[in-house]
Amino acid sequence: MFLHFIFPTYCPVCEKPTQTKRVCLGCEPQLVSIRHGTVPGLRTPLLACGNYASLGWRSAIHAGKFMGEQQLFSYIAQRMSTRKEIETYLHNSLLVPIPLHPQRLNERGYNQAEIIALTLGTTMHLPAAQMLKRRGSPHPQSQRASGEKYTAAFYFSVQRSQLPRSTRITLIDDVCTSGTTLRLAVSALHAEGYYNIQAFTFCLG
Ligand SMILES: [Zn+2]
Repeated sequence: MFLHFIFPTYCPVCEKPTQTKRVCLGCEPQLVSIRHGTVPGLRTPLLACGNYASLGWRSAIHAGKFMGEQQLFSYIAQRMSTRKEIETYLHNSLLVPIPLHPQRLNERGYNQAEIIALTLGTTMHLPAAQMLKRRGSPHPQSQRASGEKYTAAFYFSVQRSQLPRSTRITLIDDVCTSGTTLRLAVSALHAEGYYNIQAFTFCLG
């Protein structure tokens, strides 16, 4: 269904007219630039696809005024799904979006991570499921690494715990800055016995 969005005749990144009614060929490389790493402070693999601070990304987010942020995230996820490296990384895994705090979900109306996970799942024929439930909102400033083990269960609860513990899980989020949210999500899954975990984010902050 998301394939049927009408895109403007202007590139949402550079705002120059395009023939293709989507992000122009000149800007597209800025949107998908693959970087491998780990979730900060953990060994959990992390694949990030862009730099949040880059002009392309900021412009693309700004482009919400043209196509709406939801459509933009869906569009970029579609572009990502055509990359072999991303396909290989996500292969055979369950896509699990990081849930938003209910209050933020109310304010925004949708969860970006969920849009990314559902779009990647549909285009790449991978299962996507909300396996985590948000209980509280983390406060990275006041959080010490030593306290995270305790707080993980406070911030996230694990749903669908009937899934085999060997399930390959890819945690999906829109952005990884300090990595606190991803660390807490990984800890919550570890506590339930899931260790086959990796992460995927649109951007590193
Ligand atoms: Zn452009």
